[in-house]
Amino acid sequence: MKRIALALALLIAGTSHLFAADKLKVVTTTEDLASLTREVGGDRVEVNSIGRGYQDPHFIEPKPSFLLLLKNADLLVVVGLELEIGWLPPLLDQSRNNNIRPGATGHLDVSQGVEILDRPTAAVNRSMGDVHPLGNPHYWLDPANAVRIAIQIRNRLAQLRPADAGYFEQRLNDFKGRINEANKRWLAAMAPFKGAKIVTYHSSWPNFTKHFNLDVVGYVEPKPGITPSPTHTLELINLMKEQKIKVILMEPYFDRKTPDFIAAQTGAKVVVMYPSVGAVAGADDYIKLFDRNVADLTKALR
Ligand SMILES: [Zn+2]
Repeated sequence: MKRIALALALLIAGTSHLFAADKLKVVTTTEDLASLTREVGGDRVEVNSIGRGYQDPHFIEPKPSFLLLLKNADLLVVVGLELEIGWLPPLLDQSRNNNIRPGATGHLDVSQGVEILDRPTAAVNRSMGDVHPLGNPHYWLDPANAVRIAIQIRNRLAQLRPADAGYFEQRLNDFKGRINEANKRWLAAMAPFKGAKIVTYHSSWPNFTKHFNLDVVGYVEPKPGITPSPTHTLELINLMKEQKIKVILMEPYFDRKTPDFIAAQTGAKVVVMYPSVGAVAGADDYIKLFDRNVADLTKALR
């Protein structure tokens, strides 16, 4: 009897080992989600991101290679809140992989379990171009939300691969420890600038600025997704002069023309910040992305 039990145990262990060697194929829409999936999934997952960190995640040019990734994926992780609405639905349709469609176990929308800011109180008129109709989708730029995202990824990976649940749990705890330590460092570096007023190009930093106690008083875009207009630019220049605002924060993929013009009129400086992992050399995981942004921002605010 004992022998049979032992043989069975060995067989099960052998099988789970075989399964473990066969990595879960995860596709993410952004490199931030890819980085957090790697933190939790370790060597049990193979992760590919469709969007690159240097691209505006609202607008990704479709490529045939994305279809192949989606077709073979076990799990698709998305930002949600319509961030990907302009490009993901047709790719999903064409990939014909029912396992990763919304509602399937292989589809994970991590906006479900995080803090969302700028939730609209009234119906948003899409014709006005607001690309944040369900609340702000740039929520990953807050270390507390990164942990909340990682927890959801752990839950889903464990559901898809129960034999590796313990491994994912240990990886998640290790990540939590490292990001909590890093967060203490970031908060200490940003502490002298508490309440500093800034302007950002797009409304993409509300979670970041809330976490670090910065005050965003205006945007270069008249509305999220709308290109700068002369009237709005003049109003913004007046506001910045009145409130003595010294920093305009923008992503590398926006046109510098208007921010540079505003800076010339107000004496402010344009600071390029990186909204995603992979947006700049060296920012190749979530913690390194924040290291870089905090270093650049503290230098600009000093
Ligand atoms: Zn946006």
